[in-house]
Amino acid sequence: MKAKKLVLLLLLVCLLGCYAGSVKSLLNRPEFKAENEPIRTLRILLITDNSYRKDEIEKFFSKCSSLVEMQVGIRLEILDWYQIKWKDELNDISKMEIRIAGDTWSKRDKFDIALTFVHFVHSIEALGATDTFFWRYIFVKEMDPYILLHELFHAFLLQKGHSKDWVMRGARPPYGNEWYWLTPEDRKEVLRNKWRDFNVMPATQQEEEMKSKESWFYYNIGSAYLQKREFDQAILFFNKSLEINPKYAAAYETRGIICSRREQYDQAIADFNKALEIDPKYAEAYINRGRAYYFKGEYDKSWEDIKKAQDLGYKISPNFLDDLRKASGRQK
Ligand SMILES: [Zn+2]
Repeated sequence: MKAKKLVLLLLLVCLLGCYAGSVKSLLNRPEFKAENEPIRTLRILLITDNSYRKDEIEKFFSKCSSLVEMQVGIRLEILDWYQIKWKDELNDISKMEIRIAGDTWSKRDKFDIALTFVHFVHSIEALGATDTFFWRYIFVKEMDPYILLHELFHAFLLQKGHSKDWVMRGARPPYGNEWYWLTPEDRKEVLRNKWRDFNVMPATQQEEEMKSKESWFYYNIGSAYLQKREFDQAILFFNKSLEINPKYAAAYETRGIICSRREQYDQAIADFNKALEIDPKYAEAYINRGRAYYFKGEYDKSWEDIKKAQDLGYKISPNFLDDLRKASGRQK
């Protein structure tokens, strides 16, 4: 009899203890439910590269949606699908983020979160990721609710990051454990940020640090457009980048290259000048300014820049040197 009681007691302790420290045991309390009102419907742009079947994603997605709704009153709704063909981004999460941001930029007002299902390459150990700029570009590698919920809650916990336990723990618990639950403190923080605007970069750091990060992000989207030879778009992003951080030498330099390609040499030279004002050891800027002078027929200036680049240890293409020699009538 005593033994039976003991077993029952142990069982009870175990049951209660199982979800201790998480919101799991609170879900059915009326006051808990009331705190989740009103429901926010998140518009999710689903992105797939055929790593998973659509119906598979849908089923998984709706399970996750109810797990999130129970805890914080946020419902996930599929707004649209986007099929992606990766280039060389899959070995680098920030490249993936920039690719997704660039590809979906024109419809950024229409969705809240872009959720990408993708098998990363083996060298990336992460099972999921969220960008730390807008906190809205989410990647999921496996169909485990822990991963999707973890990344999604990151988008509402912002600088708070990881907890020791439950869904916000930094590493996935062993298989079979349903660690899908927030701690009550994390839930409070999610509720505080529940209505955040996903088109605004949340201020999670020092202002200066934020600015350089933001500027870097736009610079990279611009570079991605440059690679696609979409120069107008690229320039828009370089302008944006420079608006935020007017001391970003690389953004001037790259914008100058586009102007050169468009044969707008004066504008190009103005950009290279800016880049060199900020960073007088910027060899590429000398080379590119030297080229612009060459195309303008200002050969002496061109030679000057080429020499500066050489002094900085840069090798100039022999073809260009030949052209410059012929056009200028000088040997060096
Ligand atoms: Zn995490």
